[in-house]
Amino acid sequence: MPTLDATNRLTPRAGAGYIRHMAEKRKFLGVHFKCCNAYARVYMNREKTAYRGSCPRCGKRVDIGIGPGGTNSRFFSAQ
Ligand SMILES: [Zn+2]
Repeated sequence: MPTLDATNRLTPRAGAGYIRHMAEKRKFLGVHFKCCNAYARVYMNREKTAYRGSCPRCGKRVDIGIGPGGTNSRFFSAQ
């Protein structure tokens, strides 16, 4: 009789939930790049000190620092 160990029950549905969970852990912000009027996601760096990303069109980099209390805003504009 096989045991119902959670690690042996990674059904497609459970797998999707896991991926969603990981996506939530990997925090990102939506950024509007004014240079090209384009939107992109920027992801938190490994040190969790800033969100870093670049414009999808011209490659201009953004670096949004995370304060001691964090930021509540989920949306930013890059000049
Ligand atoms: Zn741009």
